[in-house]
Amino acid sequence: CGVFGIFAPHQDVAKLTYYGLYALQHRGQESAGIATTNGSDIQLHKNMGLVTEVFTEDSLSKLHGDIAIGHVRYSTTGSSLLINAQPLSFRYSRGKVALAHNGNLTNANELRNSLGATGSVFQSTTDSEVIVNLIARYGQNPIEEALMKCMIDIKGAYSLLVMTEDKLIGVRDPYGVRPLCIGKVDGGYVLASETCALDTVGADFLRDVEPGEIVIIDKNGINSINNLRGARRALCIFEFVYLARPDSNIDGQNVVVTRRQFGRQLAKECKIDADIVIPVPDSGTAAAVGYAEESGIPFEEGLMKNRYVGRTFIQPSQEMRDLAVRLKLNPVRSVLEGKRVIMVDDSIVRGTTSRKIVQMLRKAGVKEVHMLVSSSPILHPCYYGIDTSARAELIAAQYDLDEIREHIGADSLHYLSLEGMLKSAGQEPGFFCNACFSGKYPIEIPDFEHMSKYV
Ligand code: 5GP
Ligand code: SF4
Ligand code: MG
Repeated sequence: CGVFGIFAPHQDVAKLTYYGLYALQHRGQESAGIATTNGSDIQLHKNMGLVTEVFTEDSLSKLHGDIAIGHVRYSTTGSSLLINAQPLSFRYSRGKVALAHNGNLTNANELRNSLGATGSVFQSTTDSEVIVNLIARYGQNPIEEALMKCMIDIKGAYSLLVMTEDKLIGVRDPYGVRPLCIGKVDGGYVLASETCALDTVGADFLRDVEPGEIVIIDKNGINSINNLRGARRALCIFEFVYLARPDSNIDGQNVVVTRRQFGRQLAKECKIDADIVIPVPDSGTAAAVGYAEESGIPFEEGLMKNRYVGRTFIQPSQEMRDLAVRLKLNPVRSVLEGKRVIMVDDSIVRGTTSRKIVQMLRKAGVKEVHMLVSSSPILHPCYYGIDTSARAELIAAQYDLDEIREHIGADSLHYLSLEGMLKSAGQEPGFFCNACFSGKYPIEIPDFEHMSKYV
């Protein structure tokens, strides 16, 4: 998911949030929503669909105030339904609050059970509603303190935006799994999942929110509580592999530069005799450029992408994913015919995309196709907010390298090694979560006895 929030009296906060969400659309395409407050009320508009589908001039003009938060959703826990769209808006003993969450709690089901046993009711199936209930439980305390208490109860990954009638608050989990950054605009501040959203609204980057930090923005300016620190940092390395937008910087590191470095490292690890290097656009482009630079094999655009089709993976059903690949990509015969091709993509999850693309390339007359992946095999589910949760769906968890190659139909298949990936990721290896590749989970994962009841 993507979150964007702004505190800026005298500005059109709903419009700016709309543009901020537009810049974060790649982080979720199922639903979008914006909540604003004018100091005494909270207005909310949300619906299923893309940002441009959900909002019109008319719906935006009804959202006014000095503060706004917005959300684009890609479901991990909770199904793709309107009831699960965010921001969530509620009223408790201290007034009105809206909340937008990126990440995934690992103990949501336990918390849901214990809250339910003592009288809480739930409308949605999201883990985010658990946070809402906890805030209400701690309602005898000011919101900052309620959030501090919440943070002791909740486990997992969360970059949260909370809006009260007079405050914008950002919270990042103690491990810093999901990104969250702060920007400065005329007369106020912005909080966003990625720096690309700051750029879009013309905000100046101030800094990233620290793991475990609570940032409070109100008429007194910006304040911070450094509440909890995790045992270590655990920024999701998959943000760099796939999720984040290439122009964003996360915790000081640029995404496209990192992707290119993955491609260079891949070229060092895996030398192939071929005529051209082509990316699977857009997610494989930077790594393909890196591979081409390092190997000296020319970079070509062998697949054209229809700009008007969204991310295939995000479509919830398999049927939709199949069709989406063909809608999205088309091979360029005159570039490909008779060539030995290295095709670079950022990752293989289920193997659907790669299999279809290899078929397309063969139809377009390639002589050989070597599939190179600029991350290591995804062997383990993610419990921290990326939708690769079911182990049974992960092709690399089910089959060995040659079986996957066979399934995909490539002449050869190579992944970047985990060591190579960490080495070229630009930080100390311990900075990142890499659990879906290594199986080493930095934060305790769900207790399966409690699973499946609500998910
Ligand atoms: P596959 O067809 O193997 O399941 O998906 C691989 C393709 O989906 C790659 O091109 C990659 O860019 C993209 N992808 C990989 N992981 C994710 C993810 O977590 N979310 C989304 N939306 N796309 C992904
Ligand atoms: Fe990111 Fe993988 Fe860790 Fe999930 S398990 S947070 S996708 S690195
Ligand atoms: Mg892709």
